[in-house]
Amino acid sequence: MVDLSQTQLCCIYFCDQPLTFAAPMTDTDMLRHHDLRVTALRLDLLRILRGSDRALTHQEVESRLKVEADRVSVFRSLNAFEEAGLVHRVLDARGTSCFAPCGDACGHGHHNDAHAHFRCNTCGHVFCLEAVELPKVSLPKGFKLTSGQLQLEGTCNSCK
Ligand SMILES: [Zn+2]
Ligand SMILES: [Zn+2]
Ligand SMILES: [Zn+2]
Repeated sequence: MVDLSQTQLCCIYFCDQPLTFAAPMTDTDMLRHHDLRVTALRLDLLRILRGSDRALTHQEVESRLKVEADRVSVFRSLNAFEEAGLVHRVLDARGTSCFAPCGDACGHGHHNDAHAHFRCNTCGHVFCLEAVELPKVSLPKGFKLTSGQLQLEGTCNSCK
């Protein structure tokens, strides 16, 4: 999954030094940036979620953990991530919650994951399609849009 927040560019305009690239945000930076306590479990969870090319269920996340953690701690951490705007939740083909990392537009208490989600009808996995933006919709007078979802279905590139 391409996360642009990992490759923030830092440009120096006012002196004649060449353009410099800021170091990519580490998982520890990410947690601190979102006011989350840094623990071994949280770092492990972030590594798993950011390293996956699709959204993962609670169970999948748990099976990939390197640190020892009980189900409740994993559940709590994922909820804390979601609340902090670090990960968002999507449903897979079976209606199970899956978690995927958020971009810069999300923060504490609010999500703005304005990309499409693709559900594969063969493997049941769900993918964030960051490059596919939500279409602009024109609503009837008096309606105000606060969030939107675009769910696409079909066959993923491993099931073709
Ligand atoms: Zn989000
Ligand atoms: Zn598939
Ligand atoms: Zn997504």
